[in-house]
Amino acid sequence: MMEPTSAYTPSPTRYDAMTYNRCGSSGLKLPAISLGCWHNFGDHTPFETMRQLTRTAFDHGITHFDLANNYGPEPGSAECNVGQLLRTDFAAHRDELIISTKAGYEMWPGPYGDLGSRKYLIASLDQSLKRLGLDYVDIFYHHRMDPETPLEETMGALAQIVASGKALYVGLSNYDGPTLEKAAAILDELQVPFIINQNRYNIFDRTVETNGLKETSQRLGRGLITFSPLDQGLLTDRYLDGVIPSDSRIATDGRFLHAGALTEDKLKQIHDLNNIAAMRGQTLAEMALAWLLHDDAVTSVLVGASKPEQLLANLKALENTEFTDRELSVIKFISLA
Ligand code: NDP
Repeated sequence: MMEPTSAYTPSPTRYDAMTYNRCGSSGLKLPAISLGCWHNFGDHTPFETMRQLTRTAFDHGITHFDLANNYGPEPGSAECNVGQLLRTDFAAHRDELIISTKAGYEMWPGPYGDLGSRKYLIASLDQSLKRLGLDYVDIFYHHRMDPETPLEETMGALAQIVASGKALYVGLSNYDGPTLEKAAAILDELQVPFIINQNRYNIFDRTVETNGLKETSQRLGRGLITFSPLDQGLLTDRYLDGVIPSDSRIATDGRFLHAGALTEDKLKQIHDLNNIAAMRGQTLAEMALAWLLHDDAVTSVLVGASKPEQLLANLKALENTEFTDRELSVIKFISLA
């Protein structure tokens, strides 16, 4: 099948307003805001929407697109769709992009399509590269801890992947502090460029503050890219009035964010946080992203977007990432209430 042609010339000012943060103590810099392709890049989204999302991102200096083997629906389709865009729109710009993918959750039936065996990780990345149409990804992640596979085996697979040239750097996702520290020691011994952790972190979910991940990542000189920084849309004006818009993630997907999340208590928290944001002259989404970017441990926030306008709105967070101690304590008080 012929791929749609594209006459895309990226904005010449694309690097002017973005901040690039060093990823831990590595040589790699990432944009403060990166684009996640978990939702809105599967087969249910019009290709033109994906095209506008990636173009809008790149035109504004968002040089990092994040994927995983299972992103869809159907699993694998996000890599196929982004792969198509890399060919039709970004072929001349591969070296300006950081493309990441992952393996760790269930991808194919049977014992070799899940978790953390060498068999799974190496086969999965080979499949991902085919879908993406790439020779290598910039970052390959182990997607989640696997308590049954020896850490030495999983880390050994990451080492082999880098040695074979199929990934430039590796990362760990959804690890906790103690497991991260053990994994880092193995990877350091094997001289593997393990530069980044990818974890859920937002005003409502502070697990990385209590499971040792944030402290360990920073102490070991690793970067931290935070996923679901807007708590899948709860930390925006999407559900502020308690109504579920028909084009929202809750209404259109519902697999990972359900109407049940909008309890009275949650809506009150959202309202109270929105008032703080307004006092700062920001939208709730801007404040939620700025709250993460204010933190020295955070390299980049990994946002999702269903429309290019959301990405443009989120970029405004970069205009004010300063917080007073009082603002920080009020935000904490509200979010833990
Ligand atoms: P977010 O918390 O940024 O949620 C994105 C959603 O919020 C959008 O789809 C949109 O929802 C809404 N939104 C975004 N901006 C605005 C705005 N300005 N105004 C109003 N609503 C807005 O992140 P995701 O949960 O999508 O995760 C981001 C990325 O993180 C993923 O794509 C993936 O790359 C990564 N990730 C990694 C995981 C891991 O295990 N490593 C797990 C989960 C995510 P709507 O559709 O309603 O418009």
